[in-house]
Amino acid sequence: MVMVDMHGIDHAFTGIRDEPLYGRVKEFLRGGDRWPWVLTRLGIPDSALKGKNCPCPGCGGKDRFRFDNKDGTGSFLCSQGTGNVLAGSGWALLEHVYGWSFERALDEVARVALVDFAPKAGIGTSSSGHVHMAPSELPQAVSMPVAPGVPQVIHWQNLAEEPQRRYDYLMRVFRESIPLSQLDGTALQIVRNYWISRGMGATFRMPPHLHFHARLTDTQQQWSGPALIAWITRPCDGPNAFADRHFVGMQRIWLNPALLHGPLPAKQSKAPIEQAKKSFGIMDKGMIGSSVHLYGSEKSRVRLIGEGIETVLSWLRLQSLQGTLTESVEAHACLGTSQIKNWFAPTDKPVWLLQDNDPAGKDAAALFQKLHPDTRILAPPSSCNDFNDYLLAMIQKPSSQRSISPCVP
Ligand SMILES: [Zn+2]
Repeated sequence: MVMVDMHGIDHAFTGIRDEPLYGRVKEFLRGGDRWPWVLTRLGIPDSALKGKNCPCPGCGGKDRFRFDNKDGTGSFLCSQGTGNVLAGSGWALLEHVYGWSFERALDEVARVALVDFAPKAGIGTSSSGHVHMAPSELPQAVSMPVAPGVPQVIHWQNLAEEPQRRYDYLMRVFRESIPLSQLDGTALQIVRNYWISRGMGATFRMPPHLHFHARLTDTQQQWSGPALIAWITRPCDGPNAFADRHFVGMQRIWLNPALLHGPLPAKQSKAPIEQAKKSFGIMDKGMIGSSVHLYGSEKSRVRLIGEGIETVLSWLRLQSLQGTLTESVEAHACLGTSQIKNWFAPTDKPVWLLQDNDPAGKDAAALFQKLHPDTRILAPPSSCNDFNDYLLAMIQKPSSQRSISPCVP
């Protein structure tokens, strides 16, 4: 049984606790011609928002509807096919189209406006400084050094055909696989040997959200074998995204079947195929604002993000070896530099970013810090590419040499 804790959702969406959500959303909506932008993101077709008579997105017909957006209020007129004209603001339009109460509509608009999820820097459209929003699609040009993507609204109960087909496949893999915490027998042996091969040690506490599939097929590479599966969720879907199975994708890591017989050198621990690590997404751009949630919860004090799953696990392992981790962390792997650049999460706690030392990793970290100036960047020694390299170098060297350039090949 899954306990649903709504407390975290409130926190995620209200952010600045002493300011009512409605006030913040209102301020956002005042910031320009934003209703059409909001309505489009909530699924109302662009074609209905052109100011011309057209079919009603709520009740159909041929030309009974007109979006006139008076004074930027999102207003509309609909004759409902009866001549009984219905008119109102964007809020009334959301009620007409979706049947939403005002409270529901406010939640949905807040989610789209991402009032609390947006980058902190480089905007300057709000006089109070509370609305930190500058998605690239906003109709009014705002000066941003960069334009991060904004997570799209996903109607989980009503996916389009292709995303649904892909989601069904993903859920089939989910049902066929087992959480790492429940493994036993040969499956446990393979997985434990994999983590040992990657430097995680024999007593490693496995991330609760990762699964193991005993025989996962990749038809493209004509390979079937044991694999780890990491489920990709979006912090903007709330703290229960995993429990709600709101997966935008998965990362599959095929393991070397020889791990059954013992740990292997790190480089041989994955399956001997060209692409042992493959991502799968359910829809175009669905990965924006996504990550693999590895440990911790909204109650943790710090949000820790890194590029690869093993980068994050390795950093945590290093802290545990050195006894240097003093904060509880909510740890996420973004799976790529573009997801780091497009990271969206509640801005209610400090973010620590684990940087990879390749040019793309450094770029992503620099950009992230520009958007989120309070971020603490943590980088491995310049001679290592990432924290997994660093960890492997540390545990393979005698302790007397640990302080000097452990990653030089
Ligand atoms: Zn209508």
